[in-house]
Amino acid sequence: MIRINELKLPLNHSEADLPAAICARLKLQPEQLLQFTVFKRGVDARKKSDIQLTYTLDIDTDHNARVLAAFSKDEQIRPAPDTSYKFVAKAPESLTERPIVIGLGPCGLFAGLLLAEMGFNPIILERGKEVRERTKDTFGFWRKKPLNTESNVQFGEGGAGTFSDGKLYSQVKDPKHYGRKVMSEFVKAGAPEEIMYVSKPHIGTFKLVTMVEKMRARIIELGGEIRFSTRVDDILRDGEQLTGVRLSDGSELHSRYVVLAVGHSARDTFEMLFKRDVYIEAKPFSVGFRIEHRQSMIDECRYGASAGHPLLGAADYKLVHHGSNNRTVYSFCMCPGGTVVAAASEEGRVVTNGMSQYSRNERNANSAIVVGIDPERDYPGHPLAGIELQRKLEAQAFVLGGSNYDAPAQRVGDFLAGVPSSEFGDVLPSYTPGVKLTDLSDVLPDFVIAAIREAIPAFDKQIKGFARDEGLLTGVETRTSSPICIKRGPDYQSLNTKGLFPAGEGAGYAGGILSAGIDGIKVAEAVALAMTGQPVPV
Ligand code: FAD
Repeated sequence: MIRINELKLPLNHSEADLPAAICARLKLQPEQLLQFTVFKRGVDARKKSDIQLTYTLDIDTDHNARVLAAFSKDEQIRPAPDTSYKFVAKAPESLTERPIVIGLGPCGLFAGLLLAEMGFNPIILERGKEVRERTKDTFGFWRKKPLNTESNVQFGEGGAGTFSDGKLYSQVKDPKHYGRKVMSEFVKAGAPEEIMYVSKPHIGTFKLVTMVEKMRARIIELGGEIRFSTRVDDILRDGEQLTGVRLSDGSELHSRYVVLAVGHSARDTFEMLFKRDVYIEAKPFSVGFRIEHRQSMIDECRYGASAGHPLLGAADYKLVHHGSNNRTVYSFCMCPGGTVVAAASEEGRVVTNGMSQYSRNERNANSAIVVGIDPERDYPGHPLAGIELQRKLEAQAFVLGGSNYDAPAQRVGDFLAGVPSSEFGDVLPSYTPGVKLTDLSDVLPDFVIAAIREAIPAFDKQIKGFARDEGLLTGVETRTSSPICIKRGPDYQSLNTKGLFPAGEGAGYAGGILSAGIDGIKVAEAVALAMTGQPVPV
């Protein structure tokens, strides 16, 4: 197969234009092109009046070797790499010990699936409920029912990404193409085929729910076991060697191979691990607000007259501003045509995040606007100090919102002017259970407020209308990533607790659904290699 990168065609090209462009690029007669598949399709919207589609294509011709030789000096034409996934180990027939996976978010899901596929019969422990029950609890909370601290946006089958925009892209280096394995498993579980080739794929909440169920069924079919409403409350160790876990019902499970994929909100679990001397470091994260605008304004600004084109969908954005107080402000987890969601998992705290459906056709665009903070400057002294800071900010937001899980909110114009808001503009809040209009300037540290006040007008230069009075800020956004890192060595095991494999977002090794899935695969491989007495290749 031959891979062509960067083949550009206008947005409105016809189906026949693509093979014609391939033939023109490779100087082929039409009959010499045997087949082609689209590996990636990106959008180049830098020139609004001339939006282009950028293709990466895999092609077979009647003589691949000759074509490759003819274009040997052309960087964009190369042999197509093999992206198929190959298992690194197989469980022996005599397997007596079963690996444990803690957490059934994307990381635990892929760690569990891979271990099951390799024949290791993993036991997966998830503190929350199975996804349909969890959906009832989460949507119930958004409709003013009490918060269930074990079943919510953060906890339960599918993990934190289940009620999300389901964006499936990541900046992690992926030389072994694990991301393709994640995507192909998602497609097998019901995700649209297009996620394999569009450059910024997304799935949306409802599809994710059924996909998670199908993947669970597959793990069980392969010999895995999944226990819901089962929280790991303690670890068992013999010196430096982990020997098992203690569960919330008081029972014990023994294994020397435990994947820890608990996500960034398992604060009680982090405290337990710290008490049990597992090596943990504080790590930078970010805090800020969600901002909402009319999606039509973002579409118009990004795509001009092409706004609404079916291949473009609802427009997104990515913004960065380096502030005069030496703080970086950036947009994060942008959800086109989505809603702001209540993402708390602890009582008396308010946290925002964003989600959307596959169609992304809600009225508002939302995104977190956050400021990077770091342990040395902002929460020194203790590996878990970042968690305490998150808790403090979330509790302040709870009180400011009226102490009933409504979130505090403010119009962008009022926030920039430093006056409390008393009425909405044309951007109505999508956050439920509800918002309380107020002054957000006391809810986050002064340097964060100053940096965001400077950034919003700067962002307006890239997206006209971003600083409009009517835009709406809702807070607080504190769970952008884990505030800790549970350090692991080249064998993927904790630096001081052999047999514990810290993984995914909570341990500080992923940020987002795709990278968490990829990390789950890597860690499953490390477990399989350790269980079969093989070293992890460096
Ligand atoms: P998690 O998904 O957090 O899963 C951890 C699991 O462990 C949870 O199910 C939890 O219940 C369980 N657990 C915790 N402690 C214990 C314990 N002691 N015992 C047993 N089980 C335990 N990312 C994207 O890439 N795209 C998006 O569009 C996107 N949108 C998001 C929207 C929202 C509302 C949220 C909250 C997050 C979003 N994210 C998104 C981030 C993404 O969800 C996370 O990066 C990803 O889920 C991390 O995966 P994980 O498996 O490492 O952890």
